[in-house]
Amino acid sequence: PQNDVMHKITVIPGDGIGPEITAQVLRVLKHVNAPFSYEEAAAGEIALNTMGSLLPESTLESIARNKLAIKGPTTTPVGGGHKSINVSLRQKFDLYANVRPVRTLPNVPCVGQDVNLTIVRENTEDLYAGIERMVDDHTAESIKRITYKGSERIARYGYELAQKTQRKKVAIVHKANIMKMSDGLFLKTSLQVGQEFPQIETRDVIVDNACMQLVTKPQQFEVIVTQNLYGDILSDLCAGLVGGLGVVPGANIGRDIAVFEAVHGSAPDIAGQNKANPTALLQSAVMMLEHVGELKLAQDIMAALIKTLGDANARTADLGGHGNTVTFTDAIIQNLGR
Ligand code: NAD
Repeated sequence: PQNDVMHKITVIPGDGIGPEITAQVLRVLKHVNAPFSYEEAAAGEIALNTMGSLLPESTLESIARNKLAIKGPTTTPVGGGHKSINVSLRQKFDLYANVRPVRTLPNVPCVGQDVNLTIVRENTEDLYAGIERMVDDHTAESIKRITYKGSERIARYGYELAQKTQRKKVAIVHKANIMKMSDGLFLKTSLQVGQEFPQIETRDVIVDNACMQLVTKPQQFEVIVTQNLYGDILSDLCAGLVGGLGVVPGANIGRDIAVFEAVHGSAPDIAGQNKANPTALLQSAVMMLEHVGELKLAQDIMAALIKTLGDANARTADLGGHGNTVTFTDAIIQNLGR
């Protein structure tokens, strides 16, 4: 490790393929001597069945104590009005930045070439706050509330991330030409923050144009800072460019707590069969290493992952390979060569 600091992290294996891919990700982290110690905690269907809650209090306490968590996918039971675990975590810990790095990986079928960008999405306000009402039986309204505080902290997160990861460009994506006050405040605030980072090139892009540019020339983007709703849509668009939600990682980050997770679900159709691809969760672990400043370890794991994806005998079946969850991880560990 680069630093001598040890971090205790909360590990939530989750449901379905979650425990299988989590076990393999931990193998890789332990192999490179990542500066982590691990505290397992339950969430999802398994927690509901064994502890009576989708997100037990003891799990929340573990995250609050450790401040770092990695989460496998969890199954959301159908019916019963269960609140999404991710929404609960976001609200409980004010995880205001949703960060999704999107890059083309070898042998992952995709439509966009040379994509290597990170979306930094505001996670707490905008139309997502759900401030809605029926004005009368035929009219509904939803209030888009944007604050200076919310805009400032997400823009700062985006620029600091760009700086930390040696990126040179930040694009602020908005629709301030139409929503002059709400998006106007977001844009003005973001540009102000950008002035503190003169070495980073800032541009602002209107969201509809950003969609077209991302499809036609995604290589022009490095870090995108945007609001909640645009970020939700853009991050799935970008995932689609590089092969879908199955291969991209994500993180929900607050002032002092961060939760890293694969974006895909618990894949009940292949659970327990040693078929799941651990790529997305492993990349989430790479983000966690970057988050704690272990850039070298993060780079090493990414390089080994990319090399392994190039080997058809190692790749998992979802990528047309002959490997399985465990043998794919064996190959990554071999490619790490330590
Ligand atoms: P899913 O992502 O679980 O599966 C969709 C398809 O992709 C399946 O065919 C599955 O086998 C495949 N797939 C997904 N991840 C894979 C991997 N790592 N390796 C190989 N193949 C993989 O989506 P779904 O079927 O719509 O949802 C299943 C459950 O997951 C639901 O209960 C849903 O609520 C939950 N879910 C959880 C999260 C989360 O915890 N963040 C996200 C999405 C869905």
